[in-house]
Amino acid sequence: MLLAELRQQMCEYGRRAVDQGLVIGSSGNLSARDGDLVAVTPSGVQLDRLTAEACPVVDMDGYLVEGDLQPSSETPMHLAVYTTTPARAIVHTHSVFGTVVATTMTELPPVHYNALMLGGVVRVAEYATYGTPELAANVKQAMEGKQAALLANHGGVTIGATLEQAFEATRLLEWLCEVYVRGLSIGKPTVLTEDQLTAVIDRSLNPPPFPRRAP
Ligand code: 13P
Ligand code: ZN
Repeated sequence: MLLAELRQQMCEYGRRAVDQGLVIGSSGNLSARDGDLVAVTPSGVQLDRLTAEACPVVDMDGYLVEGDLQPSSETPMHLAVYTTTPARAIVHTHSVFGTVVATTMTELPPVHYNALMLGGVVRVAEYATYGTPELAANVKQAMEGKQAALLANHGGVTIGATLEQAFEATRLLEWLCEVYVRGLSIGKPTVLTEDQLTAVIDRSLNPPPFPRRAP
């Protein structure tokens, strides 16, 4: 079986996505790339009911290479993102707070420094019908230089070097959206300035050594 390990991992992260309430029903999809091949979740199958064999493998030109089921309808979006980013895994969900932000805003401003882990401001890709080349093109554009994007009136997408990283990025994106939306309910969330964000990057690149007590 091609990409056996990655297909197995997709089952695991599909289960976690459902368990953690990031997707319901058969919404959302995952993929993982190895060279010219991409393992992707099948279309219309609940992500907590996947088997490795059920996950099709396609090539970067969009041809089905292995598997009996139809690849996710969002395969064009996954392939478009792989062509323009170093991603080796992609997670797409219709998580609640991500979709709320994607339905009301044109970007998610950085109100918490952890937004830097996704590239700072998260853009909302312009709306297009699910599964279309137009949506793939809009998402590709919104992902430029980022680890995440929101899809207008639809959901969110994140990338990573591994499925674990892409999945954690999806959890972080959802958390950031939730903080923002809940913040709006009691006031106007303060957006971090460029200087404040630069200071965070400097701090993480040059952490001061922790002072050790003399023996
Ligand atoms: P698939 O079941 O075809 O992957 O579609 C789910 C989805 O999220 C479409 O945007
Ligand atoms: Zn979707």
